[in-house]
Amino acid sequence: MNNLQIENINEFSASAAMYWIQFADHTRNQILSTVWCGRCCEEVRITAYSGALRSGDLLLVGKCSICRNDVAKTIDLQHSDSKLLG
Ligand SMILES: [Zn+2]
Repeated sequence: MNNLQIENINEFSASAAMYWIQFADHTRNQILSTVWCGRCCEEVRITAYSGALRSGDLLLVGKCSICRNDVAKTIDLQHSDSKLLG
């Protein structure tokens, strides 16, 4: 799986995709590769993920690329825009 994650944009809600596509490629890659897996007890890459907006946050839900455990990551859009977009 070395395809660009943007190809999975159809798994995002329209509103979530609006935010997601504003992130730079390396930022998206960093987000996707630093998802905590409770089973692996380390940061892993998320696969088969989808995105949605929840309470102003961008929520990614998917599977751990190593053990296939369910994992999720929340991106605080209110407070991390400058950091993520800068
Ligand atoms: Zn795992």
